[in-house]
Amino acid sequence: MPEVRHVLITGGAGFIGSWLVGSLVAAGHRITVIDDLSTGRLDNLSEFLPDRIRLLKGTVGDRLDDASDGDPVDAIYHLAAAVGVKLVVDDPVGCIETNVHETARVLRLAASTGCPTLLASTSEVYGKSEDVPFREDQDVVYGPSTESRWSYAYSKAVDEHLALGWHGATGLPVVIARFFNTVGPRQRGRWGMVLPRFVSAALRGEPLRVHGDGLQERCFADVRDVVPMLPGLLENPDAHGRVVNVGRDVPISIGALAKMVVDVLKSTSDIEHVAVEQDYGRSVEDMRRRQPDLTTLRSLVEPPMRHSLESTILDTAAMLQREMSA
Ligand code: NAD
Repeated sequence: MPEVRHVLITGGAGFIGSWLVGSLVAAGHRITVIDDLSTGRLDNLSEFLPDRIRLLKGTVGDRLDDASDGDPVDAIYHLAAAVGVKLVVDDPVGCIETNVHETARVLRLAASTGCPTLLASTSEVYGKSEDVPFREDQDVVYGPSTESRWSYAYSKAVDEHLALGWHGATGLPVVIARFFNTVGPRQRGRWGMVLPRFVSAALRGEPLRVHGDGLQERCFADVRDVVPMLPGLLENPDAHGRVVNVGRDVPISIGALAKMVVDVLKSTSDIEHVAVEQDYGRSVEDMRRRQPDLTTLRSLVEPPMRHSLESTILDTAAMLQREMSA
């Protein structure tokens, strides 16, 4: 979209957001980031601050009205969200307030000006469906509302309905990116993300804690392969009003991932199987298998997928090692 000059990225100090900032700055766009730094970090943007981007610190709710500032926003990537199983089970109210109320405001603003918008959703929306690979139009299966982990899936599903509702009502050019596990440098394990948790443990020589039997499967895509597809989705009119799985479709079990991390990093760490309660302080329902059907994605953009999981592990380790020695 060469005519786009001013791009708003909510959650731009986060893991995916900061890679997107880098890619859009390199493409010559003017970037405004709104981020409350709850899970994001200023370090992620140090290359661009203070002059190359505009950072509005605060919540989307508090700073959204400041985004235009005399220079109308031409495109929005709405990535800000309460993310991570641990964060979500610890604070389900905060998760819903951020993910639903603030997204509603972003979409209302976008609809008022017809601003092209990419909304970050998640494979969690499929819930515990066992009908893999997951297609965007298939039924979803959720656990009860008494299980707080489902608040993330419910909240993102409401976001999707809102986005599709605005598209139907006003023609808002909005695309919903249902991200599957995205990994790579700048991701941290603090809120339960599995790969940085494993890499960090392997670097310290501590046991890698695999939840349950380790046979649950996930598909991991490198953030540096995922981010280049996002402008292509936002700019493609055929993507507007659609939900699109975004990620990679090669499954690996969590037990095999732990072994791969130990092998690639030549670590002396053991692999331990623990109940999820031991790490999260309560039981959390887990899904056995998550794999996207990428037919829609491939019909809209060319997925690059240049990074092997081994190279992602090495690059994530290099980043964590730099932080540990700083
Ligand atoms: P992240 O935690 O690194 O990024 C989220 C960012 O949003 C952080 O910088 C955080 O500080 C900010 N934020 C949170 N609440 C905010 C608020 N109320 N106002 C302003 N900023 C706020 O996580 P990420 O992995 O980069 O995730 C980005 C998006 O992608 C999220 O919407 C997430 O649901 C989605 N997603 C990510 C993955 C993944 O594997 N990384 C998978 C599925 C979906």
